[in-house]
Amino acid sequence: MRVTADIVLEVTQTAVVAHSDGVVDFEGGKVTWVGPAADADPAGESESRHLGGLIMPGLVNAHAHTPMTLLRSVGDGLDLHRWLTEAIWPLERQMTVDDVYWGMMLGSSEMLLSGVTTSHEMYLFDGALISAANDTGARLVATPGVVQALHGSGIDRRISEISDLHKAHNDPTGRISVGFGPHSPYDLEPSQVAELADQAKALDAVLHVHLEETESERNQILSQHNKTATQLLADVGALEARVVAAHGVWLDENDMKLLGHANASVAHCPQSNLKLGSGFADIAGMAAAGINVCIGTDGPASNDNLDLWDELTLAPTLARGLRRNPAAVGTTEAVLMATTNGGAALGQPDVGTLTAGSRADLIRLSLDHPKFWPGVDADSVISHLVFGASGYDVTDVWVNGKQVVSGSQLTTVDLDQVKSEARSRAQRLRL
Ligand SMILES: [Zn+2]
Repeated sequence: MRVTADIVLEVTQTAVVAHSDGVVDFEGGKVTWVGPAADADPAGESESRHLGGLIMPGLVNAHAHTPMTLLRSVGDGLDLHRWLTEAIWPLERQMTVDDVYWGMMLGSSEMLLSGVTTSHEMYLFDGALISAANDTGARLVATPGVVQALHGSGIDRRISEISDLHKAHNDPTGRISVGFGPHSPYDLEPSQVAELADQAKALDAVLHVHLEETESERNQILSQHNKTATQLLADVGALEARVVAAHGVWLDENDMKLLGHANASVAHCPQSNLKLGSGFADIAGMAAAGINVCIGTDGPASNDNLDLWDELTLAPTLARGLRRNPAAVGTTEAVLMATTNGGAALGQPDVGTLTAGSRADLIRLSLDHPKFWPGVDADSVISHLVFGASGYDVTDVWVNGKQVVSGSQLTTVDLDQVKSEARSRAQRLRL
């Protein structure tokens, strides 16, 4: 299959190259060639579609709890602790496996329509998440959550449940993979996080954990242990796993060094951090310390959408404001954070890139809107994308070579049914 566009962004591990009048060839779920039309193999022209606009890799949402679409808007105005304990957890306790399925169907549909092709999910009822991603056609890294209240007295049992799920569903050549999701070092004991990290390491799976989201959480751990949460994780060996730490708002310089030394990733969730009043993460400092910075929406109840383009705009703008330096995070770095850094964090270097050998996860944006003009050269178009694009600009999406959005419509899902199920379930939960 060959698709062509006015601009194709070839994205590798470290660079973004814009090809004017560009071509992407893909076959069997993999990209076989990316480059300018003038250099393309004429043999590919027989099954070519000219799409116009811009083609780039699908975005990678590196931290989400997507079934929380059913709780969208709940608890506005509360800080993280009160938001969780008073507003969110009482409703989540009533959620059934079918609620999680329909909540994920809604959120997965929302993400695909806005060009997010992969999400890294920490939630419960992960079989339902996997079924929903199978039905929408999205790429999913499911990291079943582990929380003290539900699993504290049976960590071994939870580890074997997740290991069974990994055995049944982890398929690096398909669309689904499975890791481990210890909620946080403030909820679980460090030794429990370490046990989960050991098993994640043994299975070469991701360890997905919240870290340093709020000041009060940081102070609570410091007063209990006389160490930071990051130091605690380092001391028990948990940083030896493939760590994706969500937030990192309150990391200090030493914490960043520890994470950088461990080749860990931080999923930066600026909109959630701002909505819950948690603070401003220093992603320029993290990148300088060697941390792989990727970006996430967090759950849709603390955002309140799953349109990662918002985060793609916020990440560089906040970093520049925080550092009072307009060069603190560049536009290319921002695009890499939303794409290839996410794939690398998840241990899938062929996800988030768009070059020969990448998974065929690609999106096409219309550049017709006046906000993309004048678009005088490729560099200016990258800047227009970072500071001006939104999910509404995405018209076509492929995941693993299969088209799942065509002309801004999902090809895989009856969206009216999904919306209706989601509304009636959300209404029941809030009774
Ligand atoms: Zn979260």
